[in-house]
Order: sequence, then structure tokens, then C-alpha cells
Amino acid sequence: MTAVADMTGSPGPARETAEGLAALREHIGDCHRCALGDTRTTLVFGVGDPGARLMFVGEAPGRNEDLKGEPFVGAAGHLLDELLASIGMTREDVYIANILKCRPPANRDPQPEETQTCTPFLEEQVRLIDPAVIATLGNHATRFILKTDRPISALRGRLFHRGGRCVVPIFHPAAALYDRSKADVLSDDFKRLRAVLDRVASGEMPAESGDQPALF
Ligand code: URA
Repeated sequence: MTAVADMTGSPGPARETAEGLAALREHIGDCHRCALGDTRTTLVFGVGDPGARLMFVGEAPGRNEDLKGEPFVGAAGHLLDELLASIGMTREDVYIANILKCRPPANRDPQPEETQTCTPFLEEQVRLIDPAVIATLGNHATRFILKTDRPISALRGRLFHRGGRCVVPIFHPAAALYDRSKADVLSDDFKRLRAVLDRVASGEMPAESGDQPALF
């Protein structure tokens, strides 16, 4: 069916997605479903193009994100912007969300009960946006999306399929800030991501790469 453009020029399906995301945000409200609601400054819902074909999933807001209410606006976010630019994209072309919508105190790891409470909202964002490709940033996002205990170091550089989507696990950009040896790996992984996007855009579903891990 042909998309009907609305007054702002955005296609009908993207507008419906935007409305669905707005309704989800309203449903989440001033969330206190877990204890992070007591310590956060701002809930970080997610940002980007509701019609994006590529969605990034990170871990949780840090200090800058907690203050601004937007994912990846600190040092790791600047690196993410650079990596996107290296493959001819900007953050306006993609959608960015996290496993947790609230900052864990002192940026500690997400706790299992926090992930369990918060990720239904992420799953609903994925359902609404319906991206062809999900890039998981770091261990927590990758483990959640791929339902695995394997570390990102064993999964990056490979391509998986979940629910009709391509899943591309990538090191978290923050890892390259602390360990410069990861910067080249991250840059290579973005080139792989570009290749996956190009193949998806050409109507091809790229084959999974590497060994098939025992997942699900
Ligand atoms: N790290 C993340 O995983 N997400 C953010 O939003 C910022 C830093």
C-alpha cells in the first residue's frame, strides 16, 4: 500500500509509529516501577526517526543523558556520532534507545529486576519502529536482544537474526574510550553494519555469519 503523506510530509506509517511512541511514553509516565525512579533526574525514553530501518540499543543513561533526557549525548555519544558519520549517517537517520530508561546510580550495571521491569518498553519500541536491523551496543544490550550469556567479544563481527530482523552486536562506544585498541574494531564493525544495511535495502536478507550459537 502506498504511504499517504501528512501535512508535514512524513509518511503515514511513520506518523502512526510516532503516535504509538508518544502513547507509550505517556503510558510510562513518571515511572517508579523500580527503584531507579527515585534516583534518576530525567527518564530517557529514546530518540530518532520513528521510521528508522536501523535501531541502536545501548545499556542505560549516564550522567549527561540523565540530565538531558536523551540517549548517548556524552563522550560515548560523540563517538557514536562519529562512527555514524563514517558510514554516511547521522543520529537523525536512526532510532536510539537503551535497555534501561533511567540512570543506575554511579553508572553501575543494570540489575536483573530492573532489566525485567524496563525492557517491555524497549520491546514495544522495537515493535512500533519495526527496524530491519538492530545494532546492540555492548554486553547488556546484546545479551538481552540475543537472549545469551555470551560476552560481546565472542559475538561482535557476526550477524544474527531475531524475529525477522538482523541483529548486529557491536562493542559499546564507551569501551573504545577506555581501550583505544577497540577503536579500530568498532570502526570495522560499523563498516559491517553499513554492508548489512545496504544488503537489506536491496531486498536481500543477509545470511547469518559465523557459528550458530545455541540461543533460545
Ligand atoms: N551509554 C549507554 O549505554 N546509553 C546511553 O544512553 C549513554 C551511554
